[in-house]
Amino acid sequence: SDHDLKYPESPAAMDWSQHYPAYVATPPQPQPTTQDPEPSKALTTTTPKPPAMTALPTVADIGCGFGGLLFALSPLLPETLILGLEIRVSVTEYVQEKIRALRAQAALSPPPNSPGTSYANIACLRANTMKFLPNLFHKHQLSKLFLCFPDPHFKSRKHKARIVSSTLCSEYAYVLAPGGKAYTITDVEDLHAWMAERFAAHPSFERVGEEEVEADACVGVMRGETEEGKKVGRNGGRKFVAVFRRLDEGEGV
Ligand code: SAM
Repeated sequence: SDHDLKYPESPAAMDWSQHYPAYVATPPQPQPTTQDPEPSKALTTTTPKPPAMTALPTVADIGCGFGGLLFALSPLLPETLILGLEIRVSVTEYVQEKIRALRAQAALSPPPNSPGTSYANIACLRANTMKFLPNLFHKHQLSKLFLCFPDPHFKSRKHKARIVSSTLCSEYAYVLAPGGKAYTITDVEDLHAWMAERFAAHPSFERVGEEEVEADACVGVMRGETEEGKKVGRNGGRKFVAVFRRLDEGEGV
């Protein structure tokens, strides 16, 4: 159950400072004013100021699992804030802990495998991405959205649990900026066809051509660095990739 999940009322209420402290200033806490005759009351009546934002995540990994994509994208997109979203508590905590450890390690000595990253630009949040995505991200906030090896939910009566549907494509179109891309990868051919059909049928998306897909470094990371991508590779399975561009408002909806 995800009843205990908390979401910000709106993206403006989201405090990113705890996730990206190197990029986002801590929001000022409400302070009782000195003129107030009753300081104890002032705390409850002062309106908290919105967080002091300096940067927002623009890349999201939906159902990030153990975070392989995040760790590999960190040095590839060093100036970009990247957010993994994961529904499982223990998996989210694992990724958060690993990010903390890598940041601490990088502060002592530059990471030999990934020079140029201090892992300050990646974070992981527990969320059910099928709900409240627009509570986390402003309209057009994202430039890239990854859907890597989503759970296939094979049985027809379970298809409604798939994280690609016409409705969810509308949410992905809302959070993606025009020109932004939605990346999909799976080893299940039927799910690949399902996702491609839904995105292609949506007026806000067009499929990206093969040449552009193959030239995109993020596609290589999806294939080779996600936990599932590695597992499928070890078992000699096939990996089906499709990328979709978010059209301009005028072109689609
Ligand atoms: N993307 C990772 C990879 O490629 O290695 C993990 C793939 S795993 C098969 C699917 C992940 O999506 C699981 O970790 C699962 O907990 C997560 N997940 C499923 N439904 C979700 C939802 N509604 N919101 C967030 N995460 C979800």
